[in-house]
Amino acid sequence: MLTDEVKDSFLEELNGAQRQAVTSNAQRLLVLAGAGSGKTRVLVQRMAWLMTEHRVLPHQLLAVTFTNKAAAEMLRRIEKITGNASRLWVGTFHGLSHRILRLHAKEAHLPENFQIIDADDQLRLIKRLIQERGWDDELCEPKRAMGFINRQKDEGKRAQDVSISTLPDVAMFTELYRLYEQHCQRFAIVDFAEILLRVYELWRQNPDILAYYQQRFKHILVDEFQDTNTIQYAWLKLLCTQQNHITIVGDDDQSIYGWRGAKIENIHRFHKDFPDVVTIRLEQNYRSTSTILAAANALIAHNASRLGKELWTQGVVGEPLTLYGAFNEIDEARFIVERIRAWCHGGGSFEDIAILYRSNAQSRVLEQALRQANIAYRVYGGLRFFDRAEVKDVLAYMRLLVNIDDDTAFERVLNLPPRGVGERTLASIRELAQKEQISLYKAAKQYFPSIPLGRISNGLRQFFECIEDMLVQVKMLPLSKLTQHVLEKSGLMQYVKTQPGERTTARVENLHELVQAASQFHQSYDEMFEQTSYHSEDTLPSFLSEVALDAGDREATQESCIKLMTLHSAKGLEFPLVFLAGMEDGLFPHHRCLQDKALLEEERRLCYVGLTRAMRKLYLTYAEKRAFAGLSGVNRPSRFIDEIPSQLIEAMNMNAKIMMPQTSSPKRIALNDDLPFRLGQRVLHQRFGEGVIISGDGSGETARVQVNFANEGRKWLVLAYAKLEPVE
Ligand code: ATP
Ligand code: MG
Repeated sequence: MLTDEVKDSFLEELNGAQRQAVTSNAQRLLVLAGAGSGKTRVLVQRMAWLMTEHRVLPHQLLAVTFTNKAAAEMLRRIEKITGNASRLWVGTFHGLSHRILRLHAKEAHLPENFQIIDADDQLRLIKRLIQERGWDDELCEPKRAMGFINRQKDEGKRAQDVSISTLPDVAMFTELYRLYEQHCQRFAIVDFAEILLRVYELWRQNPDILAYYQQRFKHILVDEFQDTNTIQYAWLKLLCTQQNHITIVGDDDQSIYGWRGAKIENIHRFHKDFPDVVTIRLEQNYRSTSTILAAANALIAHNASRLGKELWTQGVVGEPLTLYGAFNEIDEARFIVERIRAWCHGGGSFEDIAILYRSNAQSRVLEQALRQANIAYRVYGGLRFFDRAEVKDVLAYMRLLVNIDDDTAFERVLNLPPRGVGERTLASIRELAQKEQISLYKAAKQYFPSIPLGRISNGLRQFFECIEDMLVQVKMLPLSKLTQHVLEKSGLMQYVKTQPGERTTARVENLHELVQAASQFHQSYDEMFEQTSYHSEDTLPSFLSEVALDAGDREATQESCIKLMTLHSAKGLEFPLVFLAGMEDGLFPHHRCLQDKALLEEERRLCYVGLTRAMRKLYLTYAEKRAFAGLSGVNRPSRFIDEIPSQLIEAMNMNAKIMMPQTSSPKRIALNDDLPFRLGQRVLHQRFGEGVIISGDGSGETARVQVNFANEGRKWLVLAYAKLEPVE
C-alpha cells in the first residue's frame, strides 16, 4: 500500500479526469479521448496504481499494445514507477497469442516445433500452391489470394466456414484456402492471422485453459482499441468474465486500419456487450501547441461519422504551420533538409524530428538528401534487421533444424554458400517431392543415391553432413553458441566475408548482431515462456517465431538521429518537430480512396494522426511534380490542406531556388489564346493572394501557369484546380 504522500505525488501528474480513470473501480472502463490527451499515460499509471494500491500481482495483469515498441516503452515506464515489471504480460495481440500457443501447443493441435512465417514467406507459399494446383497466377493472383485468406482468418473463419459463392474468384480462393490450411497443418506452419485464430479456437475448445486465463488475468487493459479487428475483439470478449476487469482506451478519430479489418464499431459493440461500461472522456491535450491542435480539430471536423469530441489545450499558441509547395520531390527533400539544419542551429537536436509520409517508397528521395547532408536518420518499417538477406540465410538453416520439412528454408540454403547444386538438381528434387508427397529435404535424400559421383553429388553430401552435424549440436548448445556454430559450419560467415562489395563490413556486423540477438533472447526466454531451458532444442522454435513477429521497431531508439516513417507507424508517438511530406491529392489522400466516402474519411483520420504527432512545429510539404511509382504528373496540393483554416498556415516562399528536372524539363509555351489568362495579367488566388502571371505551359487538364505572388513569391498552379480569378 502506498503512503498518502507517495499516492499524492503519484496522482499529482494527472488531471481530474485522468485521475478518475486511473483510480476507477469500474469493472468495464472505457477511456474515449482525442490524441495526446494522456490515454497511454492513464493506462500505464492505472497498471501501476493497481499493482501498488490494490496489490494486484504483475502476473494478474494483461496489457495489449499496438506495437512491440509501445510494449517495451510501457514495461519501462511501469518498471520505473513500481520497480517491478517482471512476469507482467504486456505485448501486442500477436506477441501475447504466440506466448499462449507455445504454452499450449499440444492442445492447439500443433507440434511443439511449430513455426511462424512472416508475410513474405506466406506469399511465397501461396504462389507455390497456386503453381502446384496448376492455376494461372494471373487469374488467381497470389497477393489477392493471400488478402482473401487473411481476411477470412481475421473474421474467425476457416475455409469450411466461408459461405459457398457463385463468384468464381471466391470459389477459387476458398479452394486455395483449404489447400493452404492443409499444407500449413501438415508442415506445422502458422501465419500471423492464424496465431490469433488458433488461440481463439484453443480457448473455445478447451474451457479449462480459458478458465485458467480468465482467472489469472484480473485486469485486462487495451490501448488503441479503435483499431481492433473482429478476431481480436472476440479474443478479448472470451477473456472477460463477471469476475475480472477490463479497461480499454481509444480514439475513434484515430482508427486507421480499416483496410486491414479494424472496426471502429467495436467501441459500440463493447457498450452493447457490457451494459455496465463506465465511460470517461479526456479532453485536455498536453502534446501540441494550440495552433497545431486547432488545425487538427478543424481537419477532423470534416468527417461525418464521429463520436464527436473537441480537444483543448493550455499550451502555448506556438508558430503557425508552414506550408511549402516544392517544384518536385527533390526540391521538397532539399527544403526539409534546410529546415532540419535551421532547427538544429536553433538549439534543437535530431532526436526531436520525424518525417512522416503516406507511402514507404517516398523515403528514398528523402534518404538520399539526408545522406548527402550528413544527417543521421533511421527509417522505421523499412527493411527489418531480420529481413536482411544474410540474416535470413542463417535463419533458414536454423529453421531447417527445427523442422527439416520446411521447404522454403530448404530452397534458400541448399546451394548457399554455392556448392554446385544448381536449379536443375533442385527441379528434379521438387518433382520427386511432389510425386511422393514428401518434403524437399526428404526428396533430396531419396534422390541422392541416383546422382553420379561428381560435383553435384559432392555438394549434396556436404549439405547433408552439415545439416546432420547441426542437428546434433541443437541438442547440446545454448542458442547463441548454436548460432555461432551455424555461421561457421555452414560456411556462411566465410562466404559473406569474402564477397566483394561495399556492404561486406555491414553484412559481417549483421551476422555478429544475430548472435547477440540470440544471446539476449536466451536470457529473456525463461520469463517470457514461463519455463526454464538451456538447450537450443527448446528455445530455437520460440526464437524463430519471435524473429518473425518482430516488426523491426524495437531497435535502438536512443541514437541521435531523425526518424522517417509512414503515417501508419507513427501512431501513439510524438515529436517536437514534424514534417508531413507529400501532401498531394492522389498521394495523400491516396488515389484509391478519392471516390469512396468511407475510405476518404479513413485517410482524413490518418492525416489527423499525422498532425497530432507534432508538439511544437509542423511543416506540410507537397511537390507540384513528382516522379513516383513510375507516374509523373502535375499534382494538386492535398485537399486536407484546404480543410485547415488558412490563418493557421503560413505559406513559405519558394525562394527562387527551383531545381528543374534535368532530363524531362517541361516544354514551355507562350500563353495562347485558348487559355483564359494572358501574360502579365493580375490574378487572385484564395490562399496566396494577388499575383501576376509570368509564364505557362501544357494544355487542357494539365495547363498551368506560373504566378508571381506579392507575398508568396513564384508558384506553378494547375488551372483546373487553382481557381484563379482575374483582377481587373
Ligand atoms: P495518442 O492518441 O497519440 O496515443 P495519448 O492520448 O495516448 O495520445 P499520451 O501519449 O499518453 O497521449 O500523452 C501525450 C503527452 O502528454 C505525453 O507526452 C504525456 O507525457 C503528456 N501528458 C499526459 N497527461 C499529462 C498531464 N496530466 N500532465 C502533463 N503531461 C501530460
Ligand atoms: Mg497513446
